[in-house]
Formats: sequence, C-alpha cells, structure tokens
Amino acid sequence: MLITLDDAVTHLRKGDIVALPSETVYGLAGLALNVEAVHKIFAIKERPATNPLIVHTSSLEKAENLCEINNLAKKAAETFWPGPLSLVLPKKDVVPDIVTAGNNTVAIRIPKHPVFLEILKKLGKPLAAPSANPSNRTSPTKAKHIKELFGKASPPTVDGGQAKVGLESTVLDLSGSKPTILRPGMITREELANCLGVDVELLSTTKSSKPCMQEKQLSAPSPGMHQVHYAPKTPMKLYNSIREFRDAQNFGAGDAIIVSEEKIALELRGIGFPKCTCLSVDGCPYTIAQNLYATLIELDAHKTDRMHLIFSGENKGASRAILDRLQRAAKA
Ligand code: AMP
Ligand code: MG
Repeated sequence: MLITLDDAVTHLRKGDIVALPSETVYGLAGLALNVEAVHKIFAIKERPATNPLIVHTSSLEKAENLCEINNLAKKAAETFWPGPLSLVLPKKDVVPDIVTAGNNTVAIRIPKHPVFLEILKKLGKPLAAPSANPSNRTSPTKAKHIKELFGKASPPTVDGGQAKVGLESTVLDLSGSKPTILRPGMITREELANCLGVDVELLSTTKSSKPCMQEKQLSAPSPGMHQVHYAPKTPMKLYNSIREFRDAQNFGAGDAIIVSEEKIALELRGIGFPKCTCLSVDGCPYTIAQNLYATLIELDAHKTDRMHLIFSGENKGASRAILDRLQRAAKA
C-alpha cells in the first residue's frame, strides 16, 4: 500500500514499520530507540539478530546524542552528510543493544533523500532503517519493488521515485585505530582518504596482525558481510569480459544477458547474441549502480533461467562497490 509522508510519520510514531525512499536504496524504517519497533524490523526482514542496523538521523547534533563523534567523524560528516556514508562509532547507552547486535558501536547516517529527511525532522527521533528487502535478497530501488519482494507482507510504502545512488551506503568504521571500510559504496576509499587526510583500509584487504577495536569486539569483523548477499532469485554468473563469457559456453535459451556498457552489447551482437540489457551507455559506474538492482529484480520477475552479467569495470574507485555486490550476488 502506498502512503503519504504524513501517514508514514503517524505509523512510525505508533511504533509501526514503513518502507521509505532513500538515495541509496529503499529502507525499512522504525523508531531506533524503541525495542519493539526494532524487533518488528528484524522479523519482517527475517534478519539474523547478529546483523546490526544503521541508525538514521537528521543532523550532526542529533547524531551526537547517539554516539561519540571523534575528529575524523566530524570531518567525514561535514563533507559527506547528508549522503550515502554510514559511520561506525562508539555508541551511547540510549541506543538499544538489539540495534547494534550487542556491539558497543553503532552505524549512523544522515540520508540525503528529501522525503526521508523530512520524515526524520517531523518525527524528531532517529530511525533504524536497513534495506527494505527480505534478508540476503536484492535491495529495492523503486517503491514497486517492495511489493515484488514482500508480496502480501509488504509494509506501507512512501514512493519517493527511483533511488539516485542505487547501492547501499559505504560503511566506514571510525571506532578503531585505523579508518576501515566495512562495506564499499559509492563514496569511495579514495574520496574518504582524501577527506580524512589519512589512509583508509578496506576490510577485505586488511591483513592486520593487530586487530582494530571493532575486530576484537565483534563476533565477525563486519557482521552481515560474510553472507551471500544482494542475490536475485535467478542464479547469476559474473564475467569480466566477453571472452570469459564466450569461453564458458554456458548460455541457455531461457537465459538473460546483462552488460555494463553499450560497447559490450555491440560486440555481443557481432557474435550472435542480439538481446541483452545495458546498465549504462558508457560504463559510468554511477549510472550502472543506479540501474543494477532494478534490472536484477525485474529480470527475476520474468522467470529467467539464469542471468549472465558482463561487468568490465575495475576493482577501484566507484566500481569497487559494484563489483563487491556482483560477486556476492553471483555466489548465491
Ligand atoms: P543494511 O542496513 O541492510 O544496509 O546493512 C547494514 C550493514 O552495516 C550491516 O550488515 C553491517 O555490515 C554494517 N553495520 C551496521 N552496524 C554496524 C556496527 N555497529 N558495526 C559494524 N558494522 C555495522
Ligand atoms: Mg541490506
């Protein structure tokens, strides 16, 4: 059911859960400081209790009520908030343990989407809002995806158009001795290092003999990031070139091909594959990110046997986050 912004505020005030648009992906929102509301979020998503939620707020001052903002966090917040960056920081007691999966850090973000921000301002309270998908499935980037993903169990949804970023936020841990990206996103390692003036590590490449604070505290270094994630229902194969796709000789009649840019589509046509979906004209990672999940969810709805995705981007800059999601989706 589609609802208005004011309806959403009413539902949230009562402790109910609604799906909201954000610039990253649609979120499943509930009052972050209300344990019952947070329980409902975990239940609807069937999310394991070990996977913590990101808390959304409307200002740096409000964030300071929830966590300890250090100097690096201030710098990052001033540059990238509101925006697709979540900061992991030592939590204050007011944040319930269920939100943080028992950890003494909390992930905080100020979203940029005007509807989400307006709702936060009207409520005057922080919202926990993980992506509005059943656990491990592809995240929704349009209001209509919520119905496709949850069916009859869909939460009331505010339609705020297509998500502009299209991938989940970058998660940056600033609670330890070294800034560490726990989940790559469209705000890149390079941009963060430039803003903070220090090196920023990537969890997957961190080979520290001295684990940072967050690694010592958590049962897993980055909860939620070990699982197969972001997966469409349809099995997906990932290739980094046409040659890899052709060598696999794995294409069936009921399969679909998705490519990251038109150049690849043209070449494919030349070797006898006339039909494919293009994620961008020119390989621009921001356009690819914006279109990716909608393409996967829509192909899922068409009962495709398998998806073959050819992504030519390199594992750096803004393409790193896309590759991260594709690799997880292809592992399902
Ligand atoms: P989602 O809300 O579905 O976009 O996922 C949130 C992700 O943020 C989790 O799966 C974790 O990887 C990360 N996260 C949230 N809170 C924390 C925290 N306190 N410490 C470390 N990672 C966190
Ligand atoms: Mg998620």
